[in-house]
Amino acid sequence: MVNSSAQVPPEKMSFQLGLRRRGISDQAVLRAMEEVPRELFVDVGDRDVAYRDTALGISCGQTISQPFVVAYMTEQLRVLPRHRVLEIGTGSGYQAAVLSRLARDVVSIERFRTLADSARRRLEKIGASNVEVVLGDGFDIPQTLGTFDRIIVTAAMETIPDQLKERLEPDGILIAPVGPHEGTQTLVRLRRVGDVFERDDLLAVRFVPALPGVAREL
Ligand code: SAH
Repeated sequence: MVNSSAQVPPEKMSFQLGLRRRGISDQAVLRAMEEVPRELFVDVGDRDVAYRDTALGISCGQTISQPFVVAYMTEQLRVLPRHRVLEIGTGSGYQAAVLSRLARDVVSIERFRTLADSARRRLEKIGASNVEVVLGDGFDIPQTLGTFDRIIVTAAMETIPDQLKERLEPDGILIAPVGPHEGTQTLVRLRRVGDVFERDDLLAVRFVPALPGVAREL
């Protein structure tokens, strides 16, 4: 018997519906979430739970964020097609892939070479040619990368460094989980208005810590 949904991973059918139920309403964001094959960004053994609304472990002791949190942060970032976006914490590359559907260009920085390399391969595979994955330290971003319309941090920072805020263009928006490395953080959104940063606290979240320096790997 022919089953037209045979190739669709379990739970993908209700993926968009679940995000809508949780309050995601931006059509472009929902479409991007629908189009990016999340099963390619999780560990091979987790493919059948790729569309479940949970974070999952990836290499180097890191995590791919829960789909709702990816969608929520992306929606709150208000990305436009002309925007140049910076992500700190490439991880699997999934958030960068979602952003690649909405922005002109995405630069994503990761401190683990293993993760940067595998994210680069996945992004190439899905044709996300407007993403540049950089091995580096989000606390020490090369000046040559310039400034950004939007910045998204996907690892917990105790405070948002001034150096990072300065990389925002006028009217730019930055989103980051801010708080202690252990326990919960607050998702903070900063909007640059001239030299002033307006702050909104959005949601309680849990992220792996942002650590300084490029990681030494075995
Ligand atoms: N956005 C990712 C998940 C991020 S997990 C995804 O979609 O899969 C957080 C990532 O931030 C980890 O991979 C971790 O290694 C990285 N990270 C932590 N501190 C960092 C820093 N200072 N610079 C760059 N990446 C960092």
